[in-house]
Amino acid sequence: MRPNFENTAIAFELKSDSQLERAYFLFRMIANEPLVRIGSAVTNFALKAHLPVEGLIRATVFDHFCGGVNEKDCLSVIDNMYSKGVHSILDYSAEGKEVDNQFDFAVQKTLEILDFVKEKDAMPFAVFKPTGFGRFKLYEKKSAGQPLDEKETAEWSRIVDRYEKVCKKAHALGVALLIDAEESWMQDAADDLALDMMRKYNKESTIVYNTFQMYRWDRMDYLKKLNALAKEEGFKVGAKVVRGAYMEKENDRAHEKGYESPICKSKQETDENFDAAITFGMQHLDRITLFAGTHNEKSCLMLVDLMEQHQLEPSNTNIWFGQLFGMSDHITYNLAQEGYNVVKYVPYGPVKDVMPYLIRRAEENTSVAGQTSRELALLQKERKRRKLDS
Ligand SMILES: Cc1cc2nc3c(=O)[nH]c(=O)nc-3n(C[C@H](O)[C@H](O)[C@H](O)COP(=O)(O)OP(=O)(O)OC[C@H]3O[C@@H](n4cnc5c(N)ncnc54)[C@H](O)[C@@H]3O)c2cc1C
Repeated sequence: MRPNFENTAIAFELKSDSQLERAYFLFRMIANEPLVRIGSAVTNFALKAHLPVEGLIRATVFDHFCGGVNEKDCLSVIDNMYSKGVHSILDYSAEGKEVDNQFDFAVQKTLEILDFVKEKDAMPFAVFKPTGFGRFKLYEKKSAGQPLDEKETAEWSRIVDRYEKVCKKAHALGVALLIDAEESWMQDAADDLALDMMRKYNKESTIVYNTFQMYRWDRMDYLKKLNALAKEEGFKVGAKVVRGAYMEKENDRAHEKGYESPICKSKQETDENFDAAITFGMQHLDRITLFAGTHNEKSCLMLVDLMEQHQLEPSNTNIWFGQLFGMSDHITYNLAQEGYNVVKYVPYGPVKDVMPYLIRRAEENTSVAGQTSRELALLQKERKRRKLDS
């Protein structure tokens, strides 16, 4: 059956009354754009100055958007969601690291999570971020085609080794591994690495997935080219299709440096590009495995309808829906209720290291970005249903 995203009883079944109230309070706070901007600045400052704000952050945004500070914390969250048919992806979200031992630590985390994925049906994928494994500036230089000096060449080969280590293990265990996408000016180098890994490890089944940010107008061409290459060379394409999270940064940089922005000219163009990627993926399911990472109800329903047109069961393992923990439960839980493969990204890590991630979530949810009013309306509807709104 087509999922009913209005069903708040299913959407919030796992939330106690007090958790529901916290979510309602939180979304009301972050609906206020100036408050988010001031709050983000103050919080960053307070953490840097070692002021005792961690407890407050944990009790509010952190616990809403993150599974915990370590894997162990996340286990109860994962089991709880799985009791409703919702899968999890543990996402070690410490960001902005710049030195080798921190990159090696992220590799270690990914390797451990791959073992978890092998063991736990609730966890179908592991994930990593390109800049979790190497310096942003080096990806940038490589993407620009600039020559690397001797030291940088050695540094780059350590990044390649890190990709190789995690993809090789994922392949040996037979578990799927997603690679996130980031800013366009470092992405070419990351795409080349992902392609090498797909060539090597996606011969029999889809192990490695790259991310396609459809707010970029060039991504449809890229997806088509990759599909043609995969056909020619005989490998599978893992395609995590998203809209993209760095729009303002992309537009600002293009404007500043005077080049054409890589971002679509309007939201509608991004939406059409996203739909085109999903439709293309559905037409090539013999080669492409699709992961639609989105909170957009229309996009999710479009994929549901396409599955029906192609006479595919909701549980078909070539198609996954994904949302972020703490967002769009009405989509996640109602899809799971109807038997679709759906998964939550569950970020975790030390509070101060996860802050850039949390700030992105808060900014994305301000009234300007638009998603909050929908979250708030659904939370309010559920408060009414539970008679909490008196
Ligand atoms: C499971 C999952 C994994 C993700 N992984 C990644 C990742 O690896 N890399 C990454 O960058 N993001 C990632 N994201 C975030 C994603 O790219 C979006 O930022 C977020 O999901 C909002 O888009 P939407 O499809 O959910 O919803 P919508 O609210 O329908 O779309 C909002 C998005 O539309 C685009 N947009 C908005 N206004 C305009 C405009 N004026 N012109 C052009 N485009 C516009 C922007 O991309 C904006 O984020 C992921 C999201 C999920 C759920």
